[in-house]
Amino acid sequence: MLTLVQGSTVLQGFGVDDAPLLHADAAVLVGDGIVQAVGPAAELRRAHPDATLLGGADTVVMPGLVNAHHHVGLTPLQLGSPDHPLELWFASRLALRDVDLRLDTLFSAFEMIGSGVTTVQHLHSRAPGSPEQVLAAAAAVTGAYREVGMRASYSLALRDQNRLVYADDQDFVARLPEALRPDMADYFRRFTMPLAQQVEVFHALRARHVADPLVQVQLAPANLHWLSNTALHTAAELAAQTGAPMHMHLLETPYQKAYARRRTGGSAFRFIERLGLAGPQLTLGHGVWMTEEDIERCAHSGTRLCHNCSSNFRLKSGMAPVNRFRAAGIPVALGIDEAGINDDRDMLQEMRLVLRAHREPGIDAPHPSPAAVLRMATEHGAATTPFAGRIGQLRPGMAADLVLLDWKAVTWPYQSPDLPLVDVLVQRARPAAIRAVMIGGEVVYRDGRFTRIDRDAVLAELAAQLARPLTAAEEARRVMAAAVMPHVRRFYDGYLDGLGDEPHYRPSGRA
Ligand SMILES: [Zn+2]
Repeated sequence: MLTLVQGSTVLQGFGVDDAPLLHADAAVLVGDGIVQAVGPAAELRRAHPDATLLGGADTVVMPGLVNAHHHVGLTPLQLGSPDHPLELWFASRLALRDVDLRLDTLFSAFEMIGSGVTTVQHLHSRAPGSPEQVLAAAAAVTGAYREVGMRASYSLALRDQNRLVYADDQDFVARLPEALRPDMADYFRRFTMPLAQQVEVFHALRARHVADPLVQVQLAPANLHWLSNTALHTAAELAAQTGAPMHMHLLETPYQKAYARRRTGGSAFRFIERLGLAGPQLTLGHGVWMTEEDIERCAHSGTRLCHNCSSNFRLKSGMAPVNRFRAAGIPVALGIDEAGINDDRDMLQEMRLVLRAHREPGIDAPHPSPAAVLRMATEHGAATTPFAGRIGQLRPGMAADLVLLDWKAVTWPYQSPDLPLVDVLVQRARPAAIRAVMIGGEVVYRDGRFTRIDRDAVLAELAAQLARPLTAAEEARRVMAAAVMPHVRRFYDGYLDGLGDEPHYRPSGRA
């Protein structure tokens, strides 16, 4: 069965210097979940008179967006944790409630698809218990994506140390008052799956999804402080053996830069590069505190970057030197991380934030163009996933993951035609203008409704589940989070001393 997706404009992708590849009065011919052709609408209609029609006049068709860094459904704020600096936030997050993973995953999938996201990089950070329990948790998450029809690159964080602060779990427990030690030690015990079992879980997941068109599995060495040297080696080996891409948080905050200095005597990037992790198969999440030298080496090695702009603002992590990344030639993807600036997963909003945040002062100072930002949210995000080369653009042979925008809704009541279409799209398109979202050739969202699942029923079920009183375990974690917070804060007293006053980056406009 063929579908003809017609647009007053079809945006196929981007060419040299981020030039958008635009086609007026064009259509995308979709069959078997794949883009079969892109060409003049009238011609394709004549050639395929039986194709189902979608879109039409006043419609802009563009590649689906990729949220290249995502963790959870209900946000930490919704579940009781305010925005702290990252290192304290790890502690306040201990208080979060347990949410049914299927409902939780669907909740943010609704927000993502509703803002044009067709693929998500789901980095599952914390799944307690035995390998069987962890695999069941993974199945709940990936099953939810399959249920709603969303493409997902899924990974379970690889992590074998320093689960709360940037020091050994037992050492941290020993620093606590006697009364707090058993609960904290218990908490750590729930998450101490041996590295060998974590590797088995990875292989089991890869086997489970080997022929899955919607869900693929990759590696997520969680962050330098979370992995021993053995675990870092293991991640590099697994990537080399299986070809699985890796996504790793790195240098998110100045404390992580100080940690790397203490552990390695130098930079976090140099260290993981020596251990064989750098290269085109690796995407770094954040990278806010990379040095000039790190940036050069990152570019040279082909390592990618995922910019999590909202998260960096919310958790006081700093401004990522995105213009420097771009000038060095590092492909930058975009991730909303836990939640965006509006505490939701609105990718259109995230693009606008990135567009605005990196406008350095000075007439000739660099800044990303709207086209560059949209390319980050499509092609560059796609390249960080196992679907690289198959999504992110609308070219024959690639997956039919696309978004139809009601251009009248974007531009009503007037928009000067002097402004380029992509500039208007990135700066004015809101979720309400999204008419339909197609993933793998299937329309999963149309006119505000999900075609496979009843959003209202899912949200009502979530509300009912969370209306119950806290369980004993939730209440105990809430008490522990509050009790442990002053000790976490004290751990970082003076932690940045000795980091030096070396600027972590020099805005390129003033170099
Ligand atoms: Zn993250």
